[in-house]
Order: sequence, then C-alpha cells, then structure tokens
Amino acid sequence: MKKIIIAIDGHSSTGKSTFAKSIAAVMNYTYLDSGALYRAVTLYALEEGLTGKDGRPNVRELVNRLKDISVTFRRDPITGRNETFLNGKNVEKRIRSLDVSQSVSPVSVIPQVREFVDVQLRKWGEKKGIVMDGRDIGTAVFPQAELKIFMTAPAEIRARRRYNEMKAKGEDASFEEVLDNIRERDHLDSNRETNPLVKASDAILLDNGNMSVEEQMIWFKKLMEEKWGITLK
Ligand code: C5P
Repeated sequence: MKKIIIAIDGHSSTGKSTFAKSIAAVMNYTYLDSGALYRAVTLYALEEGLTGKDGRPNVRELVNRLKDISVTFRRDPITGRNETFLNGKNVEKRIRSLDVSQSVSPVSVIPQVREFVDVQLRKWGEKKGIVMDGRDIGTAVFPQAELKIFMTAPAEIRARRRYNEMKAKGEDASFEEVLDNIRERDHLDSNRETNPLVKASDAILLDNGNMSVEEQMIWFKKLMEEKWGITLK
C-alpha cells in the first residue's frame, strides 16, 4: 500500500501521542509530535526572558527571535524514543513541565509562531508515511491527509490521566491545577483566531473517555480493515 499521512488532532491530554505512537509502530511509520515544537518555542521564550510574570509572551520580541530557534528530534538509542532538542540541547523532559504547559497556548496563538512551526511540519511530511498529532494537523497543516482522527474525552478524565502521569514521574502539581490548565488550554486552543482546534469535517471522531489504549488500537485496526482493506497485526 502507498504510504499516507495520518493526522491525529484533538483536545489536550486525550492520549493523542500514545495513540499516534502505537499507530506508527503497527504501520511502520514515523511519529511526529507537533506540540513538542510549540513547547520548545515556549521554553525558549521562558528561558530568554521573553515572557511576563503571568507567563504571557512578549509577542514582538519572540517573533524577532524565531530565526534563532532550531528544534530537532533525535531517537534515543537506548529507549528508542524520539527526544526533542532545542538549539542542540535535549529539552524533552523540560518541555513537559507545568510552567511550559501553562505558557504554551498563549505562545501558540501567535500567527508567526504557527507559520514557523508549520513550515517545519510540512517538510517532515513530504515523504509521507507519517503519523502527526496536534490541534490543526488535519485542518491546516495537512488538509490533504488521507486519514484524520479527532480525539476527545471529558476534561475530568483527561485531567486525572495527566495528573497520574505527572505523579508517576515525581512532578509536583495538584489535581485542580492540572484540571484548570486543561480547561484553559481547551478554551484558548478552540477560540484562537489562527487555525483553532476544530474537528475537520472529514475527520473520524474518537471519544476515548472509557477506552484503554488496547481498545483504541482494536478500534484503529478495525477502521483500517473496513476503510482501507488493510489487516494489521
Ligand atoms: O500536544 P501538546 O499538549 O503537547 O501541545 C501543547 C500545546 O501546543 C497545545 O496546548 C496547543 O496550545 C499547542 N498546539 C497547537 N497546535 C498543534 C499542536 C499543539 O496549537 N498542532
């Protein structure tokens, strides 16, 4: 079968990356995390003092400095996972912290930041055979993607999953903080002017509030069988 682009969009903490990585593994495709780019740009803004006390970016300064930002991914030879590098430095862990999560949506509303990220995402998509997750992959980055899935789940369930994940990693945050952050990001992502989070009309909806990762993969394999006649192991 010819290689295709699979776009996975949806709300924050719906498990898009876990699902997208599992799909990439069974399809033998490359997984790309578009959120990591927005997170890396946000970390740059925080580290360079381009944000105010409220975590909001100084738009003009950040836009001027975009040319100084390089984000790359490298596969860790031991874990086999893709890790994010900002100007040559491994920032994989740092970009997942709460302060970055709290500042990332205001950074990602900036049209020039979106353009900066989109240019890179489209380059990576040229070869096809990719699974990319984000908020606007099926609507703006690859509207021609052959398969689009839109993921959602109730905010409390998403916050509980994220909270458990953070606790397991020893990160410090309360459940309320995590829930507030998810609600705030939903609001900002869905209401921004440039490429807001919205289900593409041709995307297939997956509400995984009551589904395990295994159940989601069974759902995906059934979809591939029915839609494309492909049997995946
Ligand atoms: O997917 P993740 O939660 O890591 O993304 C972090 C943030 O980056 C999102 O809350 C959203 O504001 C932004 N984002 C975006 N468009 C994408 C991917 C992420 O605006 N395609």
